[in-house]
Amino acid sequence: MREDNVTGEIKEKLLKLQKKRRLAFFVMICFFPIGVFIAKTLESSPFAGILIFVYFIFTGFLLTKVAFHKCPRCHKFFFFSSSWANGFTNKCLNCGINFRGEEL
Ligand SMILES: [Zn+2]
Repeated sequence: MREDNVTGEIKEKLLKLQKKRRLAFFVMICFFPIGVFIAKTLESSPFAGILIFVYFIFTGFLLTKVAFHKCPRCHKFFFFSSSWANGFTNKCLNCGINFRGEEL
């Protein structure tokens, strides 16, 4: 079920997906400095390990949620195709639409 013209709603969803991916990557990149900060600040407290673990789970949750996001146009996984997976791509691996709603 593929539409040839990209509606504003699809473009909006694609931009939302792009923002979610940026946020997930940002949280992932911040994991190390925040983990070091928590470990240094709460040195001998067992609470430090719990906080770092919660942040780790949160990061994994965000990345998983973005990775299994469906394309608003073709309704298949955006970052997965039947033969390939790429979390860094800017276009749907199934229909080829990019985050700005243009066909590549
Ligand atoms: Zn698609």
